[in-house]
Amino acid sequence: MPTQAERLNTLYQKLLAHFGPQGWWPGESAFEVVVGTILTQNTNWNNVEKAIANLKGAGLLDLPALLDLPQALFAEYIRPAGYYNIKASRLYNLLALINGQYKGNLDALFSLPLPELRQQLLTVKGIGPETADSIILYAAGKPIFVVDAYTHRILLRHDLIDEECDYHALQELFMDCFPPDTDMYGEFHALLVQTGKQFCKKTNPRCDSCPLKNL
Ligand code: SF4
Repeated sequence: MPTQAERLNTLYQKLLAHFGPQGWWPGESAFEVVVGTILTQNTNWNNVEKAIANLKGAGLLDLPALLDLPQALFAEYIRPAGYYNIKASRLYNLLALINGQYKGNLDALFSLPLPELRQQLLTVKGIGPETADSIILYAAGKPIFVVDAYTHRILLRHDLIDEECDYHALQELFMDCFPPDTDMYGEFHALLVQTGKQFCKKTNPRCDSCPLKNL
């Protein structure tokens, strides 16, 4: 009988063999990744790309430039991402932290040890565990496992967790089973998202063609 760690490793290998490396997170700079993690809340990536293109076209995908831009104007640029006023407010809350406590230097914030960095990000209104962990993993390059609704659904449907397994417990499961590895954690999360989007839908999962059908 394979252990939970062995089953999770098989799951990872099957997804990697099927989809290939995902190379997340798309972005030319750590700051672009940070902006992307907030814009992608409750929307699909195509909409985020449009908002990012607007910001890039205006030369605004840059921390010092944004510090000089009124929040309401920023919200207009990110309109295609949806919930644009809320997202603008969330990003500006983070900018206020970086500006106020780290002299506008993102690297200074990212130089904190992982637990302190996480704690600091979670103090920002509108940044929850999934966004904080995405920033830590994909922008700061530190090894923390990001979990989401897809991760929960896939593991639940394969009896790897119980329905009640919460964000923290799910994250702990992965981090107990796999050594800290930023690249691997980043790939694994991206592969689970692809699986959720393409196969493990909320209703009518496409098990027949899914790479995990014989897991
Ligand atoms: S679609 Fe089916 S086989 Fe694929 S992950 Fe979901 S439950 Fe498993």
